[in-house]
Amino acid sequence: MTSSIPEQPDAVVARLRATFRTGRTAPLEWRTDQLRRLRALLTEHGKDFAAALHADLGKGEAEAYRTEIDFTLREIDHTLDHLEEWLRPEPAPVPPHLSGAEAWTVYDPLGVVLVIAPWNYPLQLLLAPMVGALASGNCVVAKPSEMAPATSAAVARLLPRFLDADAVAVVEGAVPETTALLEQRFDHIFYTGNGTVGRIVMRAAAEHLTPVTLELGGKSPAFVDRDTDADTVAARLVAGKFLNAGQTCVAPDYVLTDPETAARLEPALARAVTALYGDDPAAAPNYSRIVNERHFDRLTGLLGSGRTVTGGTHDRDRKYIAPTVLGGVAPDAPVMQEEIFGPILPVVEVADLDAAIAFVNDRDKPLALYAFTESEETRRRLTGETSSGGLGFGLPVAHLTVSDLPFGGVGESGMGRYHGRYSIETFSHRKAVLSKPLA
Ligand code: NAD
Repeated sequence: MTSSIPEQPDAVVARLRATFRTGRTAPLEWRTDQLRRLRALLTEHGKDFAAALHADLGKGEAEAYRTEIDFTLREIDHTLDHLEEWLRPEPAPVPPHLSGAEAWTVYDPLGVVLVIAPWNYPLQLLLAPMVGALASGNCVVAKPSEMAPATSAAVARLLPRFLDADAVAVVEGAVPETTALLEQRFDHIFYTGNGTVGRIVMRAAAEHLTPVTLELGGKSPAFVDRDTDADTVAARLVAGKFLNAGQTCVAPDYVLTDPETAARLEPALARAVTALYGDDPAAAPNYSRIVNERHFDRLTGLLGSGRTVTGGTHDRDRKYIAPTVLGGVAPDAPVMQEEIFGPILPVVEVADLDAAIAFVNDRDKPLALYAFTESEETRRRLTGETSSGGLGFGLPVAHLTVSDLPFGGVGESGMGRYHGRYSIETFSHRKAVLSKPLA
């Protein structure tokens, strides 16, 4: 579009739908070409995106590449490597009463897909779903988060220069613009963000019987067993928790452990914070800022729970909150009532594994559950006796970097899944075909 007047949502969708109807987006060649163009966008403009991410979140350049740009490139490459194989028709055995017939499934593109992204990984969480949507032969309306305005502007400026502009549109905006978009009929809506808006999205989708994927959040617990080395566990917990200043959907939200292990783990967590960010994390290039004043005020309001093991300092002008560990936190403390989504790690004491499992099962199903243990029996029990979007033993956050694993929530943490071939399942219709010869 060359006009400076923003195109209305109904016009955007109509334009993309017209493109979809021509069949242009269906061939494998169009799909792989779009993925290669997306690849070129990220490699040629990586520095622009890194600068935008720094402006929005104070993200260091290395972290911006690792968690957003290179992450998305890996998803693109994995898809390019396997797409043809994933799209192959899959035969199904036919029952005896249909002998002579053949049955198989094929993947149909859905049509026009809406992707709504949040602010915390504003590039990755917009583009990684788009990889799957484009690989599945769809047109895409991409709605970046207004709370990451520099990244939103960079995507809106650059993406149309690389991708098929009649098949992919970026619509910037906040609640009014998103509300107007949601009135349109899409063939799938992929939403990442909080559960309150997730419900709004699902209600709007119901009007058109549009299927949804909801990638939501919640409190992801980390259980630490008594047989573990405190420094190893602490180093891994700190790296996962304070990545992006705790503004990561799969960050360990709180630690569950017995009192003796807590006494060993808490000083180890303080040492691990210093090892990763130095004595003054405010000066560390690898430590992000809180996205805005509203979240800053919400988070500083949670600092009063329990006892401060390390951190606790903050600076509103710079939207800085030190990596903070709170010890002896009561289950009914304010910090335990909502997803923290910031650099505060409470340690909650429970008697044993049974109590930890009961604690998890008494609450909403988390997006991720982590456990640090040497015990095979403990791993088996946690696998079988709890439900969560993903389960990580010995390492938080990293499961979402495995392209062959599905990524998604369950219950309050969401519905549906993506990454790799699971994105093809999400953004396609698996059509059943039966064929019986006429003679
Ligand atoms: P956000 O405020 O950026 O909102 C997400 C999107 O919803 C934005 O594009 C925004 O414009 C849109 N939106 C906001 N209000 C709306 C409304 N009333 N109607 C229609 N659209 C609206 O991000 P957020 O929700 O603060 O993100 C943080 C949450 O997202 C956390 O709960 C986090 O755990 C979760 N999250 C989940 C994942 C995941 O992959 N499962 C990833 C990142 C974040």
